[in-house]
Amino acid sequence: MKLLEDKVVLITGASRGIGKSIAEACVNQGAKVAFTYLSSDEKAKALEADLAVNGGVAKGFKSDASKFDQAQSLVDSVIEEFGQVDVLVNNAGITRDNLLMRMTEESWDEVMNTNLKSVFNLTKAVMRPMLKARKGSIVNMSSVVGVSGNAGQANYAASKAGLIGFTKSIAQELGSRNIRCNAIAPGFIETEMTDTLDSKVVDEWRASIPLKRGGSTKDVADLTIFLASDMSTYITGQTINVCGGMLM
Ligand code: NAP
Repeated sequence: MKLLEDKVVLITGASRGIGKSIAEACVNQGAKVAFTYLSSDEKAKALEADLAVNGGVAKGFKSDASKFDQAQSLVDSVIEEFGQVDVLVNNAGITRDNLLMRMTEESWDEVMNTNLKSVFNLTKAVMRPMLKARKGSIVNMSSVVGVSGNAGQANYAASKAGLIGFTKSIAQELGSRNIRCNAIAPGFIETEMTDTLDSKVVDEWRASIPLKRGGSTKDVADLTIFLASDMSTYITGQTINVCGGMLM
């Protein structure tokens, strides 16, 4: 028995990186997957085709998670296509790093809208179908930086900390309706983006982590599957770190 058989999972920002791994893992566990992206049309098309190999069911939607109206119509389209939404993974996120001294209002707003307002938008949109079904699991992608803070990332850390407060509040509001809401706080996850960093810097990061390696996108996807599945039916309102022991 696969862990997500008969479930419809909606994942924001899955054209690459962590979201893509989550989409792959969900299909492998038997879920029907709806995923979004902002501008990577080619990557999204390729992922849709890859996920369909071996009978997987998946569809990509171009939708800006930071826009309230687009989130509403996205969920309408997903329900039209798949009939329901059992799991929402709020994964889409961006960084616009700078010291506060140099941080512009625009980069503050961009990060807040994409990382935090998006979670409000999508959660509002899936609430009604989940309430009707009297079940649901919402997984929000935070960051260890949202727990610890980080110099040069005040906007990003604030958005990821805000997301933890949102997660705990929604868990309290919707728990009685059997809708769970949890957050994942990844540490240093090695993606295409980190491949471009100075290898000396990356080696120093690895050495400072108790498990002596960066995380993989699969490490994050594995926890997402657990929180999405009925293996975690008594877990809500939690923030779980996937960080190799970086944060204790
Ligand atoms: P990534 O490789 O940069 O991918 C970001 C994804 O989000 C892409 O699919 C992108 O679509 C999509 N996206 C961006 N803005 C969007 C919007 N407004 N609406 C819809 N989709 C949007 O990111 P990642 O490194 O995999 O990170 C994924 C999540 O994990 C983020 O929330 C990030 O903050 C969090 N996280 C990552 C790390 C890490 O080490 N990588 C650590 C902690 C937390 P396009 O391709 O179309 O632009």
